[in-house]
Amino acid sequence: MVLIDVDEVLGLFMQGFGDFLTTHGLEMRIDRFALFQNIYRPGATEHLEIAQGKALFDSFFAGHCDQIEPAPGAIEALNRLGRHAGILILSNAPADAERLRTAWLKRHGMDHPLILNSGPKGPIAAGLIAQTLQPTAFVDDLLSNLDSVADHCPATTTFQHVADLRLRPFAPRSDRHPRIDDWPQLGEAIEAAIRR
Ligand SMILES: [Mg+2]
Repeated sequence: MVLIDVDEVLGLFMQGFGDFLTTHGLEMRIDRFALFQNIYRPGATEHLEIAQGKALFDSFFAGHCDQIEPAPGAIEALNRLGRHAGILILSNAPADAERLRTAWLKRHGMDHPLILNSGPKGPIAAGLIAQTLQPTAFVDDLLSNLDSVADHCPATTTFQHVADLRLRPFAPRSDRHPRIDDWPQLGEAIEAAIRR
């Protein structure tokens, strides 16, 4: 069984959210690994107030999160994995996102069960993983989620993937989780990890 994140793993969130910000006369500057601190008014040197960024984030998830592009190679890799493995999509997104996110997955041929979570992913991953005797793998872009799953599910193989090219140089990595930003390569590594 494979548990896979959406934003910056299956889908290009920063790009999609950035496009949404543009329609609000704002811009996303990717000069560090952050989210709300990267939102600016054009020409401004100080980022937008965090509360305003969060309101835009909620509004993006409630009405526009089905407009992101799939990460290059993700669909093909997922289809291939799905032949031999159960796939669960484990996404930290507001509850409002459920309908649009489910529709987005389906539209792109990634029609797997979606579980929305908030906070560290270890506890919910442990509950899901406890239901199978098969080998398991987990993929996320954020070290906090990867560490949490590794702590709660020591037998699960964890992989880090950062889909956005601009974000990659800034994304912190850890020796604890192999970092594979190329989806075809990641798909093979997952397959090897769960093949027993
Ligand atoms: Mg993510």
